[in-house]
Parts: sequence; structure tokens; C-alpha cells
Amino acid sequence: MSTTSSLTRVALVTGAGQGIGRGIALRLATDGFDVAVNDIARSADKAEAVRDEIRATGRRAIAVVADVSDTDEVAAMVATTVTELGRLDVAVANAGIAQAQLLLDTTVQEWDRMFAINVRGVFLTWQAAARQFIAQGRGGKLVAAGSNASHRAAGFLPAYSAAKFAVRGLTQAAAMQWAEHGITANSYAPGVVNTPLWAGDPEGFAREAAKIPLGRVQEPADVAALVSYFASPDSDYMTGQTVIMDGGLTYN
Ligand code: NAD
Repeated sequence: MSTTSSLTRVALVTGAGQGIGRGIALRLATDGFDVAVNDIARSADKAEAVRDEIRATGRRAIAVVADVSDTDEVAAMVATTVTELGRLDVAVANAGIAQAQLLLDTTVQEWDRMFAINVRGVFLTWQAAARQFIAQGRGGKLVAAGSNASHRAAGFLPAYSAAKFAVRGLTQAAAMQWAEHGITANSYAPGVVNTPLWAGDPEGFAREAAKIPLGRVQEPADVAALVSYFASPDSDYMTGQTVIMDGGLTYN
């Protein structure tokens, strides 16, 4: 590891092969971070493409395959990041799934999968990152994907809304427990973002997009701008917040 590399701050972004995670990874690279780009094995080629985009800008980057719902894979993801890039400063638990469904039709398997990825995935990513931050002794920044549904449930997304409320609770508790280590925890709460997440529900996308007061759908770059702030020293006094940024759909 060179002296230069150990001075460059390192960010890990989960679910970064496409969509919001990709936007965050590219933005943090522009901000000067070296970046670990995570996705599941099925999307390894997408994570590698994002890695290559970042390397083309002159920053260091790796692609690291892991399922965020798996304890051992998440531990290995953080260990690989530190081995390859030298340190860890920011961990963005972005990976998530969504499913429009009726509560009466929702199976236990669907419910558990939603919580395994969208809630356990944040818990495991943050826990592994916090262990690394504490070992390094210089604090760190934890970030996760909430949603405007973390504040006001979307009726067509019941399990998703419950899971995103859980992310908001975890964000508050993590902020309280790890403040003494100089670790902050904040989550972004977007609205209707133009990503493949909506591929299975184009009618829902159009319906929800039509309600946005600012008159356009949200782009991954809009979300990445908020995460850039969470990752920067400018947000050092903010912790435990799940910040709504949805074009005016939701107010707290
Ligand atoms: P997306 O479906 O476009 O991308 C999600 C990525 O996560 C994919 O690359 C996928 O392969 C990866 N992923 C899925 N399961 C994983 C796992 N177990 N381990 C690792 N990676 C996994 O979704 P997106 O729209 O970019 O959403 C990103 C996050 O933002 C999600 O948590 C989502 O709930 C949240 N969000 C999205 C919107 C929106 O409108 N798109 C709104 C609010 C919140």
C-alpha cells in the first residue's frame, strides 16, 4: 500500500451495479474517494463496469461480489475493501428490492426476503463497517437507503414500507450507539427515482411520477448529491436522520 493510497478516503457502496448505487459510486469517485462497488454475483458484470468507469477517472476502484443479507459475505466484502483499498471511511448500504403487492397475497417468503435484503442488509453492512471504523479509530460515516416510505407508507408497497420504516429506526439507534466513536449514521429518503427498480411496475411509476410537485422524476444523481453531503465533513454535526428528498411529495 502506497502512502498516497492510505491518505485517500475510501467508500463502499452496496447494490452499486446500477441505479442509485451506481450514481452514488460515481459521485463519490468525483468527490475524490476510492470506491468499492458491490453487487450480487448475478450482477457482477455491472459492478465491474462501474468499477471500470471509476478507474477511467483516475481513482482506484474494485468490484466486490456479496449478498448483503449474508453475514459472512458482508464481512468478506468489508475485509476485501480494506485489503485492496487500504481503509474504510464511508459505507453506503444502498442495496434494496421493492415489490408492489397486496397484503392479503403477501407470503411469508416474500415478507422475509424484503426484510433480509432491505433491513438485515443495512444492519450487517453497518455492523461490519462500524467494527472497521472503531478499529481504525478515526470515526466514519454510515449511510443507508431509506425512502419517503420510511416516513409515510406507500399503500401499494406494504412490506417495503414496513422495511423502510425499520431502516429509519435503525438509523436513529445506530447514531445513538456509535456517536461516541465519532461515527455518524444517516439515510436518504428518495421518492420516485428513475431506475430499473421500477421495471416490473411501469404503471405504478407513471402514476406516482405524475404526483411529484417539482414536475419531474428523480434521477440517481439527485440522490447522489445528498449522499455526497452525508459523506463530507459538512455533515459532521448531522446524525440519526432519514432525510426526505422527493421533489415535494412528503413533508415531516
Ligand atoms: P435497483 O433495483 O435499480 O438497484 C438495486 C441494486 O441492488 C441492483 O444492482 C441489485 O442487483 C442490487 N441488490 C439486490 N439485492 C442485493 C443483495 N442481496 N446484495 C447486494 N446487492 C443487491 O434499485 P434502485 O432504484 O437503485 O434502489 C436503490 C435503493 O434505493 C434501494 O434500497 C431502494 O429501496 C431505494 N429507493 C429507491 C427508490 C426508487 O424510486 N428507485 C425510491 C426510494 C428508495
